[in-house]
Parts: sequence; structure tokens; C-alpha cells
Amino acid sequence: MAGKDYYEILGVNKNADADEIKSAYRRLAKKYHPDLNKSPEAPEKFKEINEAYEVLGDEKKRANYDQFGSADGPQFQGSGFDGDFSNFGGFGGFSDIFSDIFSAFGGGNGRGPRMQQRGEDITISMRLSFEEAIFGVEKLISFNRVETCSKCNGTGAKNGKEFTTCPDCKGAGRVRIQQNTMFGTTIRESVCPRCGGTGKMIKERCEECGGKGCKRVPAQVRVKVPAGIDDGQTIRMRGEGNAPAGQGVSGDLNIKVTVGQHSIFKRVGTDLLFDLYVPFTTCLLGGKVEIPLTKGTKILEIEPGTQNGTVMRVKGKGVKVLNREAYGDLLVTIKSEIPKNLAKKGRDLLKELESKFDENDYPKAKEFKSKMKNS
Ligand SMILES: [Zn+2]
Ligand SMILES: [Zn+2]
Repeated sequence: MAGKDYYEILGVNKNADADEIKSAYRRLAKKYHPDLNKSPEAPEKFKEINEAYEVLGDEKKRANYDQFGSADGPQFQGSGFDGDFSNFGGFGGFSDIFSDIFSAFGGGNGRGPRMQQRGEDITISMRLSFEEAIFGVEKLISFNRVETCSKCNGTGAKNGKEFTTCPDCKGAGRVRIQQNTMFGTTIRESVCPRCGGTGKMIKERCEECGGKGCKRVPAQVRVKVPAGIDDGQTIRMRGEGNAPAGQGVSGDLNIKVTVGQHSIFKRVGTDLLFDLYVPFTTCLLGGKVEIPLTKGTKILEIEPGTQNGTVMRVKGKGVKVLNREAYGDLLVTIKSEIPKNLAKKGRDLLKELESKFDENDYPKAKEFKSKMKNS
């Protein structure tokens, strides 16, 4: 493969970006795919295109190729492409493109792997209380989903066995069809449209599902809600969604969680917050205050001279971190509450108190005043 210009093969210039290379490759791969193009040079051309794309479609290999000139470098020798389309899986990065091409032209050439059908996902919502979300809970949820009919085992035929052989494909499940595409007329093998590839036709329909093989039924699923789940998060339960029509795996059940509010705690991630109003004298003199925790209470010690708005952090008393043995914190904001209506006696006492202080007892007010003077 020495000396080949991969850029020329794909018809792109040397500065082409990954998207250009990919789309050039797709265009040419369709054009020369031996299933679609019956000209004698098509297989060779197809092989060449794949070889070029294997290098240029890979950032690392392309850089090597650009650096070493023609394709003599040992890094990307031997793509091993032998025209056997059943080996597509081995090409890694190509598979997405090939599956595109195949689906665009009706499902491959029959030698490739059969795609397993997958049922649709279901999304439902679930409301949790604040406590249920922070401590976790187990819930039984009810919803409707499509399930494989148990009476006919998903076949759609009465008792699962009232079949005849498909007259179109004679039981093979595949037929040759002539297709007129933009690349000309092609004859190719495809899944039998009459029987959907099963090779069988239902003689008598299953009474339970009317021949569909599946049925929408009420379902109940037990959900383990992990401690620490937050509003807006989704619990995914694999395989608990709708069953596909025919053989295959069920989709997923996505449970979107909404979490209710708490009368005291506000939740921010794994931290819990609340404002704690205390008498202004407690802030002045210090004191002990009982505060709520998610479980039980705790005595919080307030230092003398605590300023209004001080945030006190109680470590590890927040919400559990999801799927980890760790906890957030409880953040208590101290709010100094000032009586609005003072009786005369109280006012007189406070006036007396006021006279005991001078400006050095209020360093912040003092600093502000000096800034005003100097501005
Ligand atoms: Zn058939
Ligand atoms: Zn049935």
C-alpha cells in the first residue's frame, strides 16, 4: 500500500477537517459498496476507500501519515480488509457509518450481525418528600408499559405455535429485491417484508394480544431511591421500559424525581441551610441555642460578640452524598433579632448602657466615618 495518496482517494484536500473526510468517505463508500455497485472495479475501489479512511479517519494515524508522507509507516499497515462484510465489527470506528449505510439500504446483506430490537424507554415522574430524598426510600410505583404477551410468548400466534411457513421467502426470512436507488438498479437480499424475517406466518392469532405479540398492561416496579437524591435527578432502571414488538430487550424506565420543600431546611447540593434568629442580647453576651438537625437536635454555642449574619458550619450534618459514605454540612446563619417595641423601662436601661460605650467599641462604624471624612 506504499505510495498511495489517501487524500486523493477520498477526493479531499490536505486541510480537510474530520467532518469533511467522514462525509467524503460515506459518499464514496455508498458509491462503491459491492452490494450496490456491481462493476468489476468496485470491490477494489471500495477496499482502497476503506484503507484511506482507516488512516485519515483516525486522528492519530492521520497525523502519522501526514508526518511520514506516503503510507510506509508501520503504524497503520494491513487494514486486513478482505471483502468479508461480516467482519465489520472488527473495524471499530467504521461500524457506526456502516450501520447507517445498511439501515439506509434496508438492513445489510444478510451476513452481518442481526440487530437486536430494543423496546422504547418510558419516562415517569415521582414526587418525594424532603425526608425521603435525604434518607432514601423504597417505593412501589405503578405505570403502564408494553410487555411481551405471555400467552403466545411474543409470537402473536395462538398458543405460540399456530404458524405456517411464509409463502414469500419459503421460511428463509430473507428475499431478493430489486431496488431503484440513486446509484442505479440493484438486486439485493433483504429481510422478508411479508414475515419480517421470521420465515413464519401466523395461522391463528393469539386471542390475548390479537397477534401483536405484546400488550400494554399495568405494571408495578419496586424502586430503591438512594439517600441523597436531589430534585431534577433521574433514576434509570434498565430493562423496565417497554418490550419491543418481536424478539429483543426492553427499554429503560426513567424516573424523574421532584423533591418537596422543608419548613426549615433549604437544600443546596449536599449542604443544608437555615437562618437562626436569636435575641440580640445572645449575640452580645453569647449563649446556647438548641437547633434542629435532620435527625434530632443539637446545642449550638454562640460566642459573645457574634455579628449578625455570621455563618456557623456544623460539619457532616448535611445530606448524604449520593452513592458515597460522605455527608455535606449544616450552615446556620445567625440573625440577631431586635425588639421593635420597647417598654419605657427597657429603653431607659438601654440608654444607660449606650452611655457606657464609646466609638472604640464600634470599630467598623469608626472606620466608615474616617473614610467619609477623607473622601
Ligand atoms: Zn417471509
Ligand atoms: Zn399473544
